[in-house]
Amino acid sequence: MKKLINVPGDVVAEALDGLTRTSAGLARLAGSTTAVRSDIAQVVAAGRVTVLSGGGAGHEPAHAGYVGAGMLTAAVAGEVFTSPSVDAVLDGIRAIASPGGVLLVVKNYTGDRLNFGLAAELARAEGIDAEIVVVADDVALDTTSRTGRRGIAGTVLVHKVAGAAAEAGLPLTEVARLARRAADAVGSMGLALSPCTVPAAGQPGFLLGPDEAEWGLGIHSEPGVERGPLPPAADVAERLLTTIAADRGIGSGDSVALLVNGLGATPPMELTLMADAAARVLRKRGITPVRTWAGTFLSALDMAGVSLSLLPVDDELLPLLDAPTAAPAWPATVSTPEGAVLPAPPTVAAETGTLPATDPVRRALEAVAETLISHRDELTAMDREVGDGDMGISLARGAAAILAECPTYPGEQGPAAVLRAASATVRRSVGGTSGPLYAILLLRAAAAFESTGSWADALRAGTEGVRAVGGAAPGDRTMIDALDPATRALSWDEAAAAARTGADATAQMTASLGRSSYLGDRVLGHPDPGAHAVALWLEAVAATLRA
Ligand code: ADP
Ligand code: MG
Repeated sequence: MKKLINVPGDVVAEALDGLTRTSAGLARLAGSTTAVRSDIAQVVAAGRVTVLSGGGAGHEPAHAGYVGAGMLTAAVAGEVFTSPSVDAVLDGIRAIASPGGVLLVVKNYTGDRLNFGLAAELARAEGIDAEIVVVADDVALDTTSRTGRRGIAGTVLVHKVAGAAAEAGLPLTEVARLARRAADAVGSMGLALSPCTVPAAGQPGFLLGPDEAEWGLGIHSEPGVERGPLPPAADVAERLLTTIAADRGIGSGDSVALLVNGLGATPPMELTLMADAAARVLRKRGITPVRTWAGTFLSALDMAGVSLSLLPVDDELLPLLDAPTAAPAWPATVSTPEGAVLPAPPTVAAETGTLPATDPVRRALEAVAETLISHRDELTAMDREVGDGDMGISLARGAAAILAECPTYPGEQGPAAVLRAASATVRRSVGGTSGPLYAILLLRAAAAFESTGSWADALRAGTEGVRAVGGAAPGDRTMIDALDPATRALSWDEAAAAARTGADATAQMTASLGRSSYLGDRVLGHPDPGAHAVALWLEAVAATLRA
């Protein structure tokens, strides 16, 4: 287990203290792991309904992250994945007891139902008006079991609805009715890509093979309903939404709020990608996702995976979802169901023509491209040792673009125009450090060839261009260490041999430029991939001209 913690037993309190340091609207109730709105005195004085939720910790940002004006008034946390005690909940209720009453939003787990239920009963005996709404949104489980369904990420939407209704000054019966409407309508289902590890346990709750996913998992690392290979995101969205829509009776013509929830270790990129996949599935079925949120809302520690929640909305629920809130974990974004695309600036059309297959420049370009493609994995592996592992892929992408476009280069206008066209191809298709450097190499080579008609001048000018733009000198452990010796050769064969010697020598150099410079001595013994690539393509050029 690798976690950024001190002692497992202190995790919940320390994490909450950190949250209060980052969110001014939030305070910790002394001696507890309960988060409360810092302005609780005013809320109670105003006689507003207050809203309390909570449960086991480990679901951050739930529940403390939803404490704030317009959402929860307090969140009571237990130990990781352990329901808080009756007394902890009762203290929380007392702390926010308001003349307007207290609504408790509880996820449907036996422990939570018992502890929150008993606390509410004791509070009522003390004269506090307390109501409970239970959320059981997990459609992966059938409804026939006696414990019923679990409460998962859809709970956050219930928090939002209840909190907005309370903030609007509605009475407890009304706040409870609206929260219950949302709780009854919302459906969720999840998929895990990896299990999670409870800090005090030190090892994962279940194990998954490298390509396996667990459908319908719980948020406490309990296994789900089925295990199988992980399909593409579109199919994940399809299956989760099909199950939810069938269960909740959502179909064509309905408007829904869509919550894409990460389970703790899913990158934001995959979550917005899932939002896109889900929106496409819904649209195909005539369902409109009028609101979409993607993020980590209710997690299961460090579990990788996602859950989707759908809440059918109407004129009553939608304004409550839209109402402003100060809760730190509720996104301040406005969603656009159709997505948004602005027109790109007009492109300047490249000069085209024809470049016959027999043209020597085309043959050289194709030979270079084929070499770079066939050495893709080798170059990538070399860049992984000393850089970021993208170089083989970048160069192969550029090479494929050259192969595709070179038949339409303006051969009629001579070799310089062809090199300029090749430079434009590289500029468009290759990023990283190599992209712009090769683009300038080809551009300067074109200009030099145009004025002197000498290929040696072209190579020299191209190399000068790379030096000018990249700022590298021989000995800096870059592609210059292969290019520079090549410029002093008297034939392509000699140039290729000089580049090879230069590239090999980079294995004994430390880098002062580029990504390798971060590694210091650790690059020694590994030649520079950029220099190696130069040797490869010069060898290809030499071989073409020899043939
Ligand atoms: P990135 O580091 O952006 O991923 P690439 O993987 O595309 O770059 O290319 C890495 C290669 O670029 C290095 O192996 C080195 O040969 C070359 N390089 C890095 N910095 C420079 C520079 N300033 N001038 C010339 N070549 C450089
Ligand atoms: Mg790289």
